[in-house]
Amino acid sequence: MSGSTARTERPATPVSADGIRELPPTLVNRIAAGEVVERPASAVKELVENSLDAGASRVDVTLGDGGRARIVVVDDGVGMAPEALPLAVRRHCTSKLAADSDLTTIHTLGFRGEALPSIGSVARLTLTSRPPDADSAWRLTVAAGLVGAVEPAAHPPGTRVEVGDLFFATPARLKFLKAARTEQTHTVDAVKRLAMAHPEVAFTVADGDRVLLRAPALSPDLLADPAAARRERLGAVLGRAFAENGVPLDLAREGARLAGFAGLPTFHRGTSSEQYLFVNGRPVRDRLLHGAVRGAYQDFLARDRHPVVALYLEIDPAAVDVNVHPAKTEVRFRDAALVRGLIVSGIRHALADAGHRASTTVAAGLLGRARPEGEETAPGPRLPLGRGGGRGGLGGGGLGGAGWRGLAPPPARALDAARTFQAPEVTPEGGFAEGIPPPPPPANPLGDAGAPAVPEEDDRDRPLGRARAQVHTTYIVAETTDGLVIVDQHAAHERLVYERMKQALAEGGIARQGLLLPEVVELDEAAAARLVARAGELADLGLTLESFGPGAVVVRETPALLGRCDVVALVRDLADDLAEWGQTLALRDRLADVCGTLACHGSVRAGRRLNEAEMNALLRQMEDTPHSGQCNHGRPTYVDLRLSDIEKLFGRR
Ligand code: ADP
Ligand code: MG
Repeated sequence: MSGSTARTERPATPVSADGIRELPPTLVNRIAAGEVVERPASAVKELVENSLDAGASRVDVTLGDGGRARIVVVDDGVGMAPEALPLAVRRHCTSKLAADSDLTTIHTLGFRGEALPSIGSVARLTLTSRPPDADSAWRLTVAAGLVGAVEPAAHPPGTRVEVGDLFFATPARLKFLKAARTEQTHTVDAVKRLAMAHPEVAFTVADGDRVLLRAPALSPDLLADPAAARRERLGAVLGRAFAENGVPLDLAREGARLAGFAGLPTFHRGTSSEQYLFVNGRPVRDRLLHGAVRGAYQDFLARDRHPVVALYLEIDPAAVDVNVHPAKTEVRFRDAALVRGLIVSGIRHALADAGHRASTTVAAGLLGRARPEGEETAPGPRLPLGRGGGRGGLGGGGLGGAGWRGLAPPPARALDAARTFQAPEVTPEGGFAEGIPPPPPPANPLGDAGAPAVPEEDDRDRPLGRARAQVHTTYIVAETTDGLVIVDQHAAHERLVYERMKQALAEGGIARQGLLLPEVVELDEAAAARLVARAGELADLGLTLESFGPGAVVVRETPALLGRCDVVALVRDLADDLAEWGQTLALRDRLADVCGTLACHGSVRAGRRLNEAEMNALLRQMEDTPHSGQCNHGRPTYVDLRLSDIEKLFGRR
């Protein structure tokens, strides 16, 4: 192992007549370090990956000054023999690839043999290591690329890597380091991602004396169940909010498997930074994967809002190339369509199974605002809705379809619900007809589809309870067995219209309802032309219209599920939408927006007075309709308050 010292002493390589020379290894390493270690977080990521590759069961990271002054990573893995130490800090030396590897069977996080030499060339690096069967430990130091001698040291089995003065040897990079706080945040994030991917390993991160992350070892029971282990680990790393608002998913297809948790759409964020993606245990940031997540949620979220997800993809290593960039956080898939399909259907199914759950943080936020002054609050988002995890969150046994306190999962009944909702077409004078003063509760306001004629006392047992009142002609207040629910009737209706239209489209067509008298709508010429140009697509969505001379259209049929609607206002708004959307997108791709506009002019918009039977019918349909917990833009359609929370508001508890 004389090689490493020889390298640093090697005489300069010859220079050709036109000035081309081979650079010395120290400089080569410094150049490479630019890509491998960008900041303290990337150095820590590489070191922790090495610990995981070494089979560690615990990894402890200590930072000084956010990692700028000092980084120490200690593990209890297989360690290195003294003769391995000089090799470990030599470029392209690795124990993880066979010499004849074709790079198709990478099972380790590292494989390029670049991290330690890169760090050693730009900082002071000390390795202290002891294999479990050795009697003592050995140490090696590299400073700015100068490799020292291997010396005996005292250390328990495992490896300790210390990095001091990162980038002291590359002032150009040193200048780009941010404040300690910023570097610390990035570093903790890097370890969090690895900790989420490896629940079988215990992790801590501290800066000085302050513990920033503690992900404890899990019991053997938990570890025996990978999904439960992940759930526990995600709770420890991301906090309970995610635990309560994530829906589990697990889908296998063509040898690939996607598991993990999808956040409820109402639990959204301003950036995509809380989308955690793992491929074969490796945290990755991949445009394809993020794009697929966006696609899966596009029905539920406004364009500028982002879901929270933790997705674990297990796939044949030969089907994915991780050798895209030295940082190894980008990947290429042999079959990108397969991966995209897994993500989109995995998330969609999980969300459909979650039925109309809305995020617990919605009510928590409300309570937070309403809490009397002076009362102490727990740090972080408050989630006091103590329901023992029985709501299908990560915290308890009620996962997946068992969203609603033991009720059967709703999707199977969605069809019935959707039929029920169509009823106004049958009895346009009853039900939801617009502009008619509320009649006394008719025997069967929703037609013949078996909707409840008179609310039953046991409606209170239903998830959304029994309607008690409508306030401000906008909100329905319902009483449940253990609390109350406030529904935004317009947002809820918009969502029901959307789900119904999606389903009808999938089943071959949207039912249309002929107008008794065709309605002529006057517009400006361009607007009329835009509508006429899209007449075929509009007909598919249930609206038939044709040109009525320049600057006018005549409407003959409207979507039946809207009931009676204000045709003139609807058509004008659609014309405005078309102007805004331009020619590029098919209306089906704007279905959420189209439905928003339709629902605005449909029966249950805000400001419409509803009678008790109508309110209860709306609640029952929400319960039976997937995704009805949020409107098309990710806002909640209802808020659920427990009696215990209300008691807290009044200081009764
Ligand atoms: P790579 O991880 O790509 O192999 P590195 O430069 O990160 O390259 O590490 C070089 C080698 O040093 C590894 O292949 C491994 O054999 C050894 N090594 C590094 N860190 C550890 C560790 N914590 N425990 C045991 N061996 C280690
Ligand atoms: Mg490595």
